[in-house]
Amino acid sequence: MKTEYDVAVIGGGPAGSTAATLLARSGRKVVLFEKDRFPRFHIGESLLPRSMSTFARSGVLEKIEAAGFVKKFGAQIASGCGSGESKFYFKDGFRPKGDHAFQVERAEFDKILLDHAAENGVEVHEGTKVEGVEFPPGGVLLRTSKTSYPASYVLDCSGRNTLLASKLDLKTTYDGLHKFALYAHYENVDRPDGMDGTLTRMVRAKDRWFWMIPLSPTKMSIGVVMDTAAVRAMPQTPEAILQESLDSLPVMKNRMARSTRCTPVYASGDYSYRITSLHGDRWLLAGDSAGFIDPVFSSGIFLGVLGAEQAAGALNAALDHPGLRAKSFDLYQRKMQKVLKIYLAFVRAWYRQEFVETVLSPANILEIVPAVNAVLAGNIGDSFSLTWRLALFRTIVGIQRFVPLCPRLTLQPDSP
Ligand SMILES: Cc1cc2nc3c(=O)[nH]c(=O)nc-3n(C[C@H](O)[C@H](O)[C@H](O)COP(=O)(O)OP(=O)(O)OC[C@H]3O[C@@H](n4cnc5c(N)ncnc54)[C@H](O)[C@@H]3O)c2cc1C
Repeated sequence: MKTEYDVAVIGGGPAGSTAATLLARSGRKVVLFEKDRFPRFHIGESLLPRSMSTFARSGVLEKIEAAGFVKKFGAQIASGCGSGESKFYFKDGFRPKGDHAFQVERAEFDKILLDHAAENGVEVHEGTKVEGVEFPPGGVLLRTSKTSYPASYVLDCSGRNTLLASKLDLKTTYDGLHKFALYAHYENVDRPDGMDGTLTRMVRAKDRWFWMIPLSPTKMSIGVVMDTAAVRAMPQTPEAILQESLDSLPVMKNRMARSTRCTPVYASGDYSYRITSLHGDRWLLAGDSAGFIDPVFSSGIFLGVLGAEQAAGALNAALDHPGLRAKSFDLYQRKMQKVLKIYLAFVRAWYRQEFVETVLSPANILEIVPAVNAVLAGNIGDSFSLTWRLALFRTIVGIQRFVPLCPRLTLQPDSP
């Protein structure tokens, strides 16, 4: 098959834009399709410091820095009962790679990334949905409503639409992680001054948790995550469920006494799924289309952008040395699955009470707290000195289940 493009990318979110830019900067001919026109609303607003090095590599970091997004210096975990909270500043993490990331309105952020891809030579088609992908010998053919585009490889970054994984029946769910989120933006939510006012705040209640992400000096993204089955059993509207959830916890309600909601209430279900294979002979998956785990630790964009960087490397290797394709694609899959596994373990732990009791009582023995902090910063890597600390942390959490090394918490306010 005669191919016109080296790589065709589906989706112009952070994963697609980043991979397309890196490939174009390596001299590849790249075409990208985005079904929407930007700017558009998207959830997923809290970034991790580790992604800053990828944005520097793709040449977009200066534009992100110039856009005036809130600088994020860490995260905070609080208990719904109001009796405990822990702050994690990135600067105090285990061998930190940076002291900040950003809290971003995705409408603006995604547009910066996509425009940057076009400025770097990517042929960007906005408002163009990929309707089908075919695999004739020697390449791929992407079909839109108007025409077909022949390429050597396709990189699917279609996000939670999971275009290829759904077509190839590769999507499975994780037991026990069927969650549902309701969220909106609010004006005038109270927050501390200075560095503490930039932190992502996660509040863990008994059967649900909340996020608070400062997006500007006055605006905040706020959401609640619950079991899907529990939400489906509630007769109220999504607006009422979110409002009643916020009102049920003084640690949320008190900060929101003067606030007003300034967007509709949005909902996301289909939380946490696994994709059984991240590549075939002519295709790779990156970002949410390669798997999605509950973004409780703000890992989504970090994983998407890391996947984009690694996938661009694997595609470059395959284009330069076709004989190395199978090996480089396989290596890509193994790397990504290893990182996903680390976050999956943390997400599963988050829903166990003893995990929250342990992180809210951070006795800093053997630098375990900085090691947990490193995961919250996306600073994971392969180092043994980090992995044994995380293993020790998991052991302490395991013991806490049966023997209270740290104070027990109710995670909900005392009944009146
Ligand atoms: C409730 C919730 C809260 C979250 N909070 C955070 C957070 O705080 N921090 C964080 O890092 N992550 C968070 N995430 C995760 C984050 O939103 C995603 O991980 C991130 O957006 C993934 O980027 P992506 O590029 O893979 O996919 P997306 O950003 O979803 O981009 C995919 C793009 O593909 C396009 N597309 C889809 N199908 C087609 C098609 N057929 N043809 C053409 N284009 C197509 C879509 O229009 C979209 O623009 C959250 C997610 C949810 C659901």
